[in-house]
Amino acid sequence: MTRTRSTPCMTTLSPTIRNGALLFLAASSLLGVACGVRDTSASPEPEQSSAMTSADHTNPATSSASGSEKSADVAAKERLVRSDEEWRRLLTPEQYRILRQAGTERAFTGAYWDTKEAGLYSCAGCGQELFVSDTKFDSGCGWPAFFEKIEGANIVEKPDHSHGMVRTEVVCGRCDGHLGHIFPDGPPPTGMRYCINSAAMTFEPANAD
Ligand code: FE
Repeated sequence: MTRTRSTPCMTTLSPTIRNGALLFLAASSLLGVACGVRDTSASPEPEQSSAMTSADHTNPATSSASGSEKSADVAAKERLVRSDEEWRRLLTPEQYRILRQAGTERAFTGAYWDTKEAGLYSCAGCGQELFVSDTKFDSGCGWPAFFEKIEGANIVEKPDHSHGMVRTEVVCGRCDGHLGHIFPDGPPPTGMRYCINSAAMTFEPANAD
């Protein structure tokens, strides 16, 4: 019976090769890449700035619970597909009407149209982070308005010719939930106005633990 050895034993190697291998392993260990095993224990947890700026924002809500590294871009592009029955069960009637049936809440009635608190706005359907409070402004329209989305947020723009108007609908690119519309009449620096239904979003205050 022939036995094969899949891993060369260090003691059978010549001293020169063995010493070289030991040096390599020591150097690899210092660099954290020994044996091809990636050390994720030193990976920093996503930090949430109390200033809630969009430029340096990470996306912990769309990261996996295990804390594995995953960029906001990759996480946001993962699709969330549910049946209509599931959406009806998981959403409130108002959330369902707006997110799944492209409804619109009445102006000045939503939960966040006048919110000035620092924090994070996410899709009420799938949790994708969409906007931070430092990009919110008072547009006077009666709905939450933002001049910029979070960098990397997956928001899809679609032509909307309903109700005799020419508008651009914005939809969550992860769960296809209707969010609202975008108009080219916002303030600097973008000149854009994301006009979003409160019921399409959840809000997490910046000082929440
Ligand atoms: Fe969504």
